[in-house]
Parts: sequence; C-alpha cells; structure tokens
Amino acid sequence: MTKMKIALAGNPNSGKTTMFNALTGANQYVGNWPGVTVEKVEGKVRGRDGVTVTDLPGIYSLSPYTPEEVVSRTYLLSGEPSAVLNIVDGSNIERNLYLTTQLMELGKPVVIALNMIDVVNKKGDKIDVERLSSLLGCKVVETSALKGKGIDKACEKACREAEKGESFAVRPCFSADVEEAVSAVSGLLPSEIKPVLRRWYAIKLLERDSAVLKSLSLHEQAALKIESIAADLEKKREDDTESIITNERYNYISKIVSECVVKKSGGHVSLTDKIDRVVTNRFLALPIFAVVMWLVYFVSVTTVGTVFTDWANDGLFGDGWHLFTIGAGSYEEAAGEYSDASAVLDAFVTYADSTGTDTSAVLEAPEAGEDETSSEEDVVLREEALVSFAAQFDDDLEVSYQVTDEETLDETCETATGSDLKTAVSILSSYGLLEPDPADYGIWVPGIPVVIENGLDVIGCADWLKALILDGIVAGVGAVLGFVPQMLILFFFLAWLESCGYMSRIAFILDRVFRRFGLSGKSFIPVLVGTGCGVPGIMASRTIENQNDRRMTIMTTTFIPCGAKVPFIAMIAGAIFGGAGWVAPSAYFLGIGAILVSGIMLKKTKLFAGDPAPFFMELPSYHLPTVGNVLHSMWERGWSFIKKAGTIILLATILVWFLSYFGWTDGSFGMLEEDQMDSSILALIGNAIAWIFAPLGFGNWQATVASITGLIAKENIVGTLGILYNSDTATVYQNMGAAFTGITGFAFLAFNLLCAPCFAAIGAIKREMNDTKWFWRAIAYQCGFAYVVALIVNQLGMVITGTFVLNPLNVISLVFAVAFLVLIVYMVVRPAKKRA
Ligand code: GDP
Ligand code: MG
Repeated sequence: MTKMKIALAGNPNSGKTTMFNALTGANQYVGNWPGVTVEKVEGKVRGRDGVTVTDLPGIYSLSPYTPEEVVSRTYLLSGEPSAVLNIVDGSNIERNLYLTTQLMELGKPVVIALNMIDVVNKKGDKIDVERLSSLLGCKVVETSALKGKGIDKACEKACREAEKGESFAVRPCFSADVEEAVSAVSGLLPSEIKPVLRRWYAIKLLERDSAVLKSLSLHEQAALKIESIAADLEKKREDDTESIITNERYNYISKIVSECVVKKSGGHVSLTDKIDRVVTNRFLALPIFAVVMWLVYFVSVTTVGTVFTDWANDGLFGDGWHLFTIGAGSYEEAAGEYSDASAVLDAFVTYADSTGTDTSAVLEAPEAGEDETSSEEDVVLREEALVSFAAQFDDDLEVSYQVTDEETLDETCETATGSDLKTAVSILSSYGLLEPDPADYGIWVPGIPVVIENGLDVIGCADWLKALILDGIVAGVGAVLGFVPQMLILFFFLAWLESCGYMSRIAFILDRVFRRFGLSGKSFIPVLVGTGCGVPGIMASRTIENQNDRRMTIMTTTFIPCGAKVPFIAMIAGAIFGGAGWVAPSAYFLGIGAILVSGIMLKKTKLFAGDPAPFFMELPSYHLPTVGNVLHSMWERGWSFIKKAGTIILLATILVWFLSYFGWTDGSFGMLEEDQMDSSILALIGNAIAWIFAPLGFGNWQATVASITGLIAKENIVGTLGILYNSDTATVYQNMGAAFTGITGFAFLAFNLLCAPCFAAIGAIKREMNDTKWFWRAIAYQCGFAYVVALIVNQLGMVITGTFVLNPLNVISLVFAVAFLVLIVYMVVRPAKKRA
C-alpha cells in the first residue's frame, strides 16, 4: 500500500483534535480556544498501514493574516497531503462551510466530516447529507468525533479519494461578473501553475493577497492588468475585492444551506443559551468568574487539598501516619492531654523563675521526658522533683500563660491554679514523662524519611551521605512532592472547567473587559493555558498576529500562578498565614491584576501602542466532560511535575544541600551542623545579595536564596526553604512563621509570583520573542514589576498595620513605594494618546 497523508482541517473547536486522537489513539491536548494547536501534529492511523493524519491548527479562512492560516495553507498547497479531511461543525454549518469553499480550491480531494452530528440531532435540526454532497461536489460523512461515530468511514472515504489522484477542480460558484474577473486573471497567470490551482491563485491575486503575490514572479504587465481587473470590479460593486469575494462565498453557502438544512423551528432556547445568559451577563459575568476561580483555588489549596497534602507532608514525607486513621483519635487525645499538662508545668516554671522561687530541682532533674533512653531511675528522680516542685504552690494560686494554636497560630491566654499543676504532674507521670508516641496507637505506618533513615542505619551508611539523603534530597524533593495532591486537585478542576466549555466563556468575557482598555481578549488565552504551565501559555501567544500585542502577552502571561507556583503559595499560606483560605485565591487575582495593569500601562507607551486585534471566538455548547478525559488531563500535567521533581529539582536540592551544609567554621572548611547554617557557602552568597530584598521586608539570606533557586524551577522555592528551615514540615512551618510576618510573607509571595519565571519558561520567552533585546526587556519588566509590587505591599502594608519602623532604609523605601504607586495609578487612568 502506498504511503498517504490526510490533513485534518477545520475551524477551531470543530473537533479536529478529538478526531485526530480517535484516529491515531494519541492524546493531543484538546482545548476549547483557538491557538491550542499552533503547530501541526502528525500521527499514524490505527489499523490502516501507511496512512498518517495531520492535525492542523484551527482556522476560519485561508487569508494570510494569522500564523495558523499561513501554516495551514502552505502545508495544504505543498505536495505532502494527498487529501483533506475537512472537519465541519454541523451545529454551526454556515460558518464552517466558509473555510470549506476555500479548501476545495486547493486542488486536493476534500472529504467533509460533518462532525458534532450528535449535537445536531439533539437540537432536532435536519441536514440532508446526500444533497449537501451533490451540491458541493464532494463526499460528506456524518461523524461524532466525541462518540467515535463515523470516524472510520470518514477516513476510509478520504483514503479512497486520495487514491483516485490529485486533480480536483472546484465548480464556479460566484456571480457572473466575479467569475468573469476570476477567469480573466486566471488567463494571466504564469503557465507553470497547474490548471487545478489556477482558480485559487486568481482569487488570491484579485484579493491582493501579498504572500501569494510575492510567491509568484508575475510579469509587470500581467500585474498591472490584474490590478485593473480588480479595480474595475471594485468600482462596479463599490466595495473592495476581498469583501466582494467573502460575500460571494457566503451567498453560495447560504444557498446551499437553505436547500439542505432544516433548523428546528420555534423559539426553542437550548440549555447552553440559558446558562450563557447568566454566565456571560454584562454584570454577573465577572463576579461569577471571580467566585468560580476563588472556589477552585480555595478548595484545592486550602480545604480538600490540604487534607491530602497534610497527610503527604506529615505522614508520607514526615514521621508516619495512622493507617485508615485507626488510632489517630486516641493518639490525638493523649497528645493533647500531654501537651496541655506540659504547658501548665512550663507556665509555673516561668512564674517561679520570675518570683525567685528555686526551680533548679525541676531543671536539673534528669530530663527523662526528652530522652527515650533514660533509665527508669532517672524517670523516678524527675517525677519526684516535679512533685516536690508542685507542692510549693498553693492550690488556689492562679498563673496565666499564653498558648499558641499550632494550626492557626492564634494566641490565647489561659490560667491554671496550683491544683491544676498537681494534676498536670500526675498526668505527665502517667505517660512516664514521655510524649505519647503515635506508633503506640492503632496501626502506624512510618513515613518515608523514617524508613530511609532506618534503612541507612542498617547498612551503616556514611554520615555525610545519610545527611545528603535525609536533610537534602528527602527534605527538598519530599517538600515539593508533598504538594502534589493539592496540585492534582487544582488541575482536576481546571481540566473540568476547560472541557465543559466554561473557560472559553472566560476568554469571551475578559475580551469585553480587555477591549475597553485597548487590549485584545486574545491576550487572555495564553493566560488561561498558562494556569497549567507557562511554557505552552507563552507558545499560545503565537496566535496573536499583531506583533506589539504578542510581545506584550509574552511579557505578562507568566504572572499567572502556574502549577509549579502552587506549592510555594500553599506553603506560604500554611506556614505564615496559618492556612488561611484567602491566600491562594489572592495569588490568582494578583496575577490577573498584574496582567491587566501591565497591559493597560504598556499599551500607553510608544512601544506597544496600536489597536487591539480582532478576536473571534466560538463558544462551544456546554457538555459534561467525561471523567476519563478530565482525569487524563489532570494526570498528564501532574506527571510532568513529578518527573521534574525527580530530575531538575533533585539536582537543585543536592546543590542547595551541599552549599548550605558546607562552609567555614573557626577558619576551617567542612560540613556544618544544622544550627551552623549561617556560616554556610549559601548563607555567604545569600547575605551578599540579601540587601536587594531588604526594602521588600524579606532580606534574610534564606528567602533570598530561595527566590534565586526559584528561577530554575518554581518548586525549588519550597525545596530550598524545606532544607534551609530544617527538615520536617512542622519545624519548617514554625521557623518560617518566625522568619516572616504576614506582610513580608505576602511581599515574598508577590515577588516570587510575578518575577521572571523558571528556566523553561524563560527559554520559551526567548524563542517566542526571537529577539535578544526584547527578551531582556521582558525579563527586566517582569523582575522590575515584581519588585515594585512587593515593595508597595511591604511598605504600605507596614504603614497600614502600624508596624512601620522609622529608619533611613524604610523611609527611602516608603518614598519610592508611594512614588511607584502614584506612577502606576497615573499610567492606568491617564487617557491614551491619540495617534495622528
Ligand atoms: P479543535 O479545536 O478542532 O481541535 O477541537 P477539539 O477537538 O479540541 O474539540 C473541541 C470541543 O468539542 C471539545 O470539548 C470536544 O470534546 C468537543 N467535540 C469534538 N467533537 C465532538 C462531537 O462530535 N460531538 C460533541 N458533542 N462534542 C465534540
Ligand atoms: Mg485542536
């Protein structure tokens, strides 16, 4: 059998990719907006030897205005494809056939897959396929790519047409005067153009298609003659040739449609229309969007997500967990009782210290409670010391003390009496002065670090290697992997919103908003794609034909929190804000706000001025996505994240571990203890540049270093902080809580959210900008904007909360923060300069 290539062409959202996947068994990304498929993708058809199909970008016509249209038509004109399978969305047949009329001019056999036939039938519309086929002069097959109906038949027909040979001439179908002009131009074409293609070239020349004009070396005289034919036609019709021909095509189509399509009559409003009336309502659309996205981030990062992430962090990558939570309840009760009792004891020790009572007996008693290996005599000695300590206080004596809630970090004031102390001591004794061990309750599964540590002990692993594995790799990579559940849940929601059709509405809604500021909604599609990963997001900007808009979009797309930024957002929410639910959604809206504000500001500068590109977008009908598809998409994104954790993040954590556990102490170089990290190489580097971040409030070396490793991959922020703030999650959270205030924490979040993205995305920016100067402008803008926003958050945050400390650095920083804020507000509200 001969080799054969079939090109899948059609409007965006007509189902090309779904069809491609069904034919090849591949898993291309199925998206609902233009630009998801920018490059063509090839695959072998299952069960048909030697037949390949090509998934072309979605296009509405074959004009030379967008990269997708150029990619498609160059490919279709080349010798490669032997037939075109034109996917036509049957529920939108009029619009879709416009492209069909152009595809048929390319001299290749065209077979129409009348797709979404399930939707057509459901709506109750009737399409006379036989008649359609004979009117158009090509084969038409009813298909439903989603349900797998008619796919084989469509492919079969395309193969058969391809085998018949190349020549496929379209019938004349325009009004007489236009046909006359076409054939006149056709006669002037160079002779090497094949007869089947002469009509196509003639029409393109009439339309003054610059790309076609350039590709042909016309005689000067012929060119002049063609120009005069076009001008004559324009004069007669009082319109330009491009519009004339567009009209002709639509007239032709509407004649055909009126003959073979019967729409179900009556004022029937589909469910999709009903939903859209609410969801895209002028006033409700934005609030609904805000609530939906808020819920998505809230649920995945804060509620459902944390349940799994806590388990992953504290259990799987921590000490361990209770299998099926058996024993968890009774352990928590015991642990609570024990820690309440210790708090009472501590309160009295502090009280005794302050009143000059002798506490040495308690303090010097063997610290049985802190060491599992203490002998029984030691325990008895300490118990006696505690009892006699407690006996010194009156039963009615009241002592008050502060208690910090571990989860919310809220401080409450409690009081205990002398008799409480005596009870507390006996409770402590009943536990043998030893903190309850979760492993003694229910079924305990030890965490990965514990298992690894025991394993390494058994094989007698060298200390440094053990430290590398536990304090470096497990602490770093484990900290990152611990956030996988949250990310998977987020991806699940995003995939669901995307495939049910809601995301296309968002692009549509935001186009309305963007347009008011002179921006195109097209700029928002890369952002939607970028919530998964910035790299495809940046690539999706290729669909924007206006160069200024495209550059601006490349610059701002990565402001949106991508999947890899979720871990550090969740970590900051957990460690610094006690798991507050507003943190993650606020990061999302901060990203959107940054994009909008940047867009408005940049558009008013000379570099980016210009009218917004037009934006056409088809809103697909809502449909319930299949669970398989959503899970698949979630897993695809999640898996690439896990792979990244095993490679680039693993390497980065090893480097960070080495740099943070080695350094100079007492003049000699060597491995450091955990509490000597301040002398490490990394601390040296971090301290040298930490001043840069001092005005932002997080000028400590740990945060500085984390921001830098974040440039390799954003997950590294979490991995690095995991290593630098000690290994297990609880301690990391405590140490981070101590190192940041709410304000500096949010400034840190804002900076790392908005600054230059990871290496992979930086690479994508470089490729897409394809211009060194523009590349550096983009990186500089991102870092500069991030710095300014974090500066404003920190300085004004301090002023608002009344924690502003008067010192030269703060005063200067505040002046700059206010100045930048005023400048930004001015740039946003200032009317755009009218261009001459
Ligand atoms: P492309 O832009 O042409 O590649 O279109 P996609 O393959 O990405 O499909 C767009 C949307 O239409 C997806 O949500 C598909 O699930 C859906 N879709 C594709 N084919 C059909 C079909 O035959 N019937 C229905 N109901 N939906 C379809
Ligand atoms: Mg596609």
